Amino acid sequence: MGKLLTVLRNISEVIAGVEDSGEVLAKIVKILAVNLDVDVCSVYEYDKDRNHLVLTATSGLNPESVGKVMMQPGKGLTGICFQNKEIINIENPSKHPDYIFFGNTGEEKLYSYMGIPLATGGRVIGVLTLQRQKQGMFSQSIVDMAKSLSPQMANLMLNAGMLRFLASSAEPKHRESSHKSSFTLKGLAVNPGVARGEAFKFKIRDWLSETEHGTHNDQKKELELFDKALTQARENTIKMEARALSMISEADASIFNAHLLFLEDKTILDEIKREISAENHSLEFSISIVFKRFEKKFLQLGDKVFRERVIDFKDVMLRLLESVKMLRNQLVDSNLIETKSKEWILVAHELMPSDLLRLPIDNLAGIVCEKGGVTSHVAILAKAFEIPALLGVSGVMSKVHNYDQIILDCHAERVYINPPENIKAQFDDLLKASEAAETKIVEGPAMTADGTRIALRANISLICETSLLQKYGAEGIGLYRTEFLFMIRDYLPGEDIQYDVFSKVVSESNGEVTLRVLDVGGDKPLNYVNIPHEENPALGLRGIRLLMAHPDILRSHLRAVLRAGRLGRIKILFPMISKLEEVHFIRAMLKEVEESLKQEQIEYATDYRVGIMVEVPSVFIGLNKFIEHVDFVSVGTNDLQQYIFALERGSSTESGYDCLSPVFLQIMADIGAIFRARPEKGVSVCGEMAGNPMAVPLLIGAGIKDFSMPAKVIPLVKKTISAFSEKECVDLLQRALKMDSADEVAAMQKSILADKGLTGPVDAK
Ligand code: PEP
Ligand code: MG
Repeated sequence: MGKLLTVLRNISEVIAGVEDSGEVLAKIVKILAVNLDVDVCSVYEYDKDRNHLVLTATSGLNPESVGKVMMQPGKGLTGICFQNKEIINIENPSKHPDYIFFGNTGEEKLYSYMGIPLATGGRVIGVLTLQRQKQGMFSQSIVDMAKSLSPQMANLMLNAGMLRFLASSAEPKHRESSHKSSFTLKGLAVNPGVARGEAFKFKIRDWLSETEHGTHNDQKKELELFDKALTQARENTIKMEARALSMISEADASIFNAHLLFLEDKTILDEIKREISAENHSLEFSISIVFKRFEKKFLQLGDKVFRERVIDFKDVMLRLLESVKMLRNQLVDSNLIETKSKEWILVAHELMPSDLLRLPIDNLAGIVCEKGGVTSHVAILAKAFEIPALLGVSGVMSKVHNYDQIILDCHAERVYINPPENIKAQFDDLLKASEAAETKIVEGPAMTADGTRIALRANISLICETSLLQKYGAEGIGLYRTEFLFMIRDYLPGEDIQYDVFSKVVSESNGEVTLRVLDVGGDKPLNYVNIPHEENPALGLRGIRLLMAHPDILRSHLRAVLRAGRLGRIKILFPMISKLEEVHFIRAMLKEVEESLKQEQIEYATDYRVGIMVEVPSVFIGLNKFIEHVDFVSVGTNDLQQYIFALERGSSTESGYDCLSPVFLQIMADIGAIFRARPEKGVSVCGEMAGNPMAVPLLIGAGIKDFSMPAKVIPLVKKTISAFSEKECVDLLQRALKMDSADEVAAMQKSILADKGLTGPVDAK
């Protein structure tokens, strides 16, 4: 991992120093050759029009061969690697029947060969080859590192290709505040808390389209300003990369490499300069004209991958414009993209997990989003970073302006925009009270009033969250969602990257870790795994189904899991199980992976337990059969609710109370009953329901004693549990089961909690 980071950093530095995008690849192959300790490192690019691969850059082969050595897909080792989309790792390549010798390259002295397909967005665009004079195949660690690097190379090549296209295409003809009102909006609280700050609208800093026609009267000064702004924008990009890496250890900074490439591109920079000198345009106007011109070209490109890069290009041009504004002292409030000195509230239409990497989360006090629901991923991340969040706030983007004063009250599920003085004063008290309440943590394990022990564990997605376990008194990790590591990057993380992350989580946990196997597909797409278009992704290739379709991903994932498991106590949990055959498959796969690790004499965990999520109705119905084949189950109430009620999770119509519906409670009661008869098997609840103080007493009434939830809500749930006896919980559940609606149950629970003095944030779902 450390080495990989060094290589990535070196690559960023190279991009920062090279003007011509064509030169970038030449420098990168040199860095790779040194860092991977190989004699030859080359890149072959696929030319779609001519249907051949051409040597584009090399370190070690005769430089004269660049642009001359060509082969068709399927021909020669490199052509086969490209066609089969598979790594070739062999010794004595010249003895291989498919070997083709190219004169004048200097290849004859090389005794080991590895070809790595360069793929991104599910498409292969070339091949990276490594060759050594030494005999023998390449080690697994080099294979893993090359695998991790290849999508980044592919991305760089795509960008370089796109920029080359722009350089050669014909040049087109060029043409080309508000009153602070006070109001309140409602939403769905997905993370408790109260926050105050200035609004910042994400992705709506649309200065590029807002910039008006402007001219200058000093060309020299304007060009000097451009140089300074470029330097500042490049420095900011490199800083963002460093920040991303320090903020989230799971992240990698490949997107910023692509950003640097734009900031170094001669075609783009020359066009801006030309606007300044030939057209007398101001720097800001020149940037916005050139942006619009190139944006149009990008969008016209037939290639979807190119078109998707427009957002990165826009990001970069905005950063450049910001630097100009700052140098002209038009942005008083320091750098909007870098850090913010004051507390701020992020207002967005929709957020993706990777968006967080582009944002300064220091001083981020709250999130308000138009889209997303209780169980969406931004909700999960808000919990991970302990940021109060209100989602499903319709109209917020059009109604709120940057710098508006915002008070976010997730207990009342309201956001106040530019509140009057009396509201502000009230919130001063509430903010103080909420800070005090958060620190009030009851020591010792959770216990009902009559002494029944209840296990409260934490749901986590990030390594940094392990620090919350101790803070909030979690007994280990009840659900480690491994997918964030996969979703945050543009390429599949190799076994070693995964091992690094998992071993940190396992060794930093203060108890057992339930590590959930990669759960993607559906609402969590991976852009590098080809998932065919589906009309109903929630009912499609997700969770275990996707892993069964991509056994290689599962194999290296499980290897990393088992290796990390040796450092603590782990339970392995499989998502989206719907059929018994899937359980047989995972059992066989675990056996196979154990066998391969044993043969390779790699240490791994052998005393782990295997479990499945109960998320699909078929598993609930067949539960008695399923538990014969597993050690435990964990009820994923978020998905189970979605499939039971046929109501899409995250939809704004999700009331947040559905888990209290008597129908759903009956399901939980039946699950509890099944496990009371099988005490040797484990049952826990890890969906949002487990962290809901209105629901937990009812679940205890169903006989469930193991819960996993966002760490921050553990103190509140613990306090709630201590106010109820087990007998009381059983009675409450019986009363709830006889009711007709979730609202009726919610009303009963609210009034009981209020009677027990448990008011306030208990309403948070
Ligand atoms: C669930 O479905 O309840 C669950 C815990 O899994 P996720 O929210 O990650 O889908
Ligand atoms: Mg789920």
